[in-house]
Amino acid sequence: MSEDLFLKIIDREIPADIVYETDTVLAFRDIAPQAPVHILIIPKIKIRTVNDVDAEHTELLGELILAAKRIAKAQGVADQGYRLVMNCNEAAGQTVWHIHLHLLGGRALQWPPG
Ligand code: 5GP
Repeated sequence: MSEDLFLKIIDREIPADIVYETDTVLAFRDIAPQAPVHILIIPKIKIRTVNDVDAEHTELLGELILAAKRIAKAQGVADQGYRLVMNCNEAAGQTVWHIHLHLLGGRALQWPPG
């Protein structure tokens, strides 16, 4: 069994509502959605936090954004607008230690965030 929750989802050891997958990226619905559309987009390799991102990950991070664009369109929120968020470490609210891009849409979102 993998140690990291999101690696378990990648390995299908625990279930998730998967909406998008490539060789390098997986996206699935958040278990506790904060908006009508709340999807987590993750790399298939483990990177603990944004602080652990390196130059070798540049293309992979671009793939996360490309996935977000495609998913937003498929979920019908591209034109109205959506938010992409990546929390880094505790003060920002990170709780899962495998980087993930939140895609939030389907309602008006407040700014600044809490
Ligand atoms: P963070 O707080 O680290 O930025 O975001 C972690 C997200 O993962 C949270 O929004 C949380 O609801 C979601 N999450 C935690 N455990 C699971 C799970 O087992 N399945 C899914 N689909 N989402 C999860």
